[in-house]
Amino acid sequence: VDRSVQSDMKKLESDFPGFWYRYRLIKRIGEGTFSTVYKAEDKLYDQYVNEWDVQNEMSKWTPPPLERDSPSHSPRKRTRYVAIKKIYVTSSPMRILNELELLHDLRRCPSVCPLITAFRQTDQVIAILPYFRHGDFRTYFRDMTIPDIRIYLRSLFTALRSTHEHRILHRDIKPTNFLYDPATQHGVLVDFGLAEREGSESKPCLCHEQRELRKTRQANSVWAQSVSSYTPSGYPKNDTRPSKRANRAGTRGFRAPEVLFKCTEQTTAIDIWSAGVILLTILSKRFPFFNSADDVEAMIEIATIYGARRMKVAGLLHGCVFDTTIPTVGQQGFTLEKIILWSTCRGEDKPLTADEKLAVKFMERCMDLDPSRRITAEEALEHEFLRIDSS
Ligand code: ADP
Ligand code: MG
Repeated sequence: VDRSVQSDMKKLESDFPGFWYRYRLIKRIGEGTFSTVYKAEDKLYDQYVNEWDVQNEMSKWTPPPLERDSPSHSPRKRTRYVAIKKIYVTSSPMRILNELELLHDLRRCPSVCPLITAFRQTDQVIAILPYFRHGDFRTYFRDMTIPDIRIYLRSLFTALRSTHEHRILHRDIKPTNFLYDPATQHGVLVDFGLAEREGSESKPCLCHEQRELRKTRQANSVWAQSVSSYTPSGYPKNDTRPSKRANRAGTRGFRAPEVLFKCTEQTTAIDIWSAGVILLTILSKRFPFFNSADDVEAMIEIATIYGARRMKVAGLLHGCVFDTTIPTVGQQGFTLEKIILWSTCRGEDKPLTADEKLAVKFMERCMDLDPSRRITAEEALEHEFLRIDSS
């Protein structure tokens, strides 16, 4: 354990005196943009202690009744090891409350990491979660067989189904937020730090209008923005139209096209796209698959696959004019099957197996450019590729 980690751990222990009778810090397991996560031992794991200690900002958050004979997904499940998520003090109280509230709402959902409890000491908040052993995605994704992929995705889509049933968008679906243990083939969804309730910040977007109305609006949309040429800035010069604002929280490479097109009525479909990108990563054996630094470049990456024609249609759904003069973006684009064959260096002599073709079909449903036509998590679990009886 290096020095700085050790001093961080000491600091945490001194910030929360009196609580360390229960938890013994073992090591740091994650350091992200918004938090540091430690593995710790719950020394009293075989005893029940009611310890909903979150006050002030968190006082309106009422604890659930204590359950003694907890079902397997209950937050009260006994676990010897816990993950202690120290949320950076720079996060706003509303944001921290939001994450804890959503986790609380989802506490009984299969494949979603439950919240055991949370503590606050002045401005520092820590969340206690059961510890899940998991592998590093980069070490196992290239070796996954089709049955492995099916099990992985079934677990991910099970988590998404219950999250979406609660009308919650996760917004940051990616491998580091889905903890998966290839040995036991168990997975849990974590990190609701960017999650939000559906419709919480929405202003009407064209994509939710009736087709006919949309057509007339598209013709004279004041919101229309174009990506006309690939200048270093990426935007047309002298554009005096008001710029459109939408939530774009998430991780580069995993943002759905409607997020890039600044849709103001984003739905749970954005998570399905990101799950599709994970599948694309696994099948293409390339991580990260998309890697552009900004949203305009990200649109170009997607357009390179789907073709300018379909990308234009996708943009118009949200009142955006997509236009490009980049020579590598063709009108027609390519099929996802072709992309997989090329990225795995398989020529025409080694076509995809029937199972792989089914996986690609499923991926096409997750990566439909039109969010309203994209498969839902519930439908995904009924899809031939993921159905329980298919393996
Ligand atoms: P951040 O907002 O900083 O990304 P996360 O909740 O995603 O925070 O946690 C960061 C990392 O910590 C995860 O990618 C994972 O490696 C580890 N981690 C988080 N929760 C757990 C858990 N319950 N069990 C084991 N490891 C965890
Ligand atoms: Mg994370």
